[in-house]
Amino acid sequence: MMTGQGGKRDNSQGKGPDKAPDKAPNTGPDHGPAGPPSADRPGDNQRMRFLLDLRRAGISDQAVLRALEEVPRERFVPSPMQGRAYADQALPIDCGQTISQPYVVAYMTEKLELRPHHRVLEIGTGSGYQAAILSRLARQVVSIERYATLAQVARERLQALGYRNVEVLTGDGMAGAPDHAPFDRVIVTAAAQEVPQPLIDQLAVGGILIAPLGPQEGAQHLTKVTKTETGETREALIAVRFVPLLPGKAQQL
Ligand code: SAH
Repeated sequence: MMTGQGGKRDNSQGKGPDKAPDKAPNTGPDHGPAGPPSADRPGDNQRMRFLLDLRRAGISDQAVLRALEEVPRERFVPSPMQGRAYADQALPIDCGQTISQPYVVAYMTEKLELRPHHRVLEIGTGSGYQAAILSRLARQVVSIERYATLAQVARERLQALGYRNVEVLTGDGMAGAPDHAPFDRVIVTAAAQEVPQPLIDQLAVGGILIAPLGPQEGAQHLTKVTKTETGETREALIAVRFVPLLPGKAQQL
């Protein structure tokens, strides 16, 4: 079964005062760095609408919007679904997993408050799309996937697109990547009841972790954890629906 990911797009809870009803008029058309030749891309209209919808839904960070404009999402979805690459919905990928809904990718990325010098750990590479977005905004991305086949496909895809600052590892993301720690930011793209302790341990002091927390069948909320000198602070964000964070490396595939 496909588990759709993502909050409702008009769900403004938890967004706080930064969600001015319309910041968009000031931003104007945004001609960010060009992606691959436009002849290969789905209609400009489709992608323009995609960005407009993200802005309308409250995404206002220009760097995040530019990254979503630049990364060709159609290269991360299975061929039969190319036509829906720019629809605001999660789509099924191999191994019964999903590529997250664009709004949720943008929202989580915005909440990470990335800076160009940051090193980021992602748990749940999936298609590699979120990792590609992160790679445009941070210095280095380490992404862990428990399915070897998904990891391999994502690795090749990211390489083909020239995103050289992403390293995809096959393994159990619940253990993090101790050899690469500490990380300035951690993003978990599969849901669990609680954040695995190694991920908190591998977060630098002052660092931010974003993860969907909650039961598999019930309400999950994106949660922002900020590590402090003495412990951590937590903030519950929007409601979402993610596939489960499962222990161990996948035996098959
Ligand atoms: N970020 C992805 C979407 C991920 S879906 C994208 O942009 O496409 C969640 C992914 O987490 C799935 O691919 C699933 O296999 C993976 N996953 C679940 N538990 C994991 C674990 N313990 N370690 C690593 N990956 C895990």
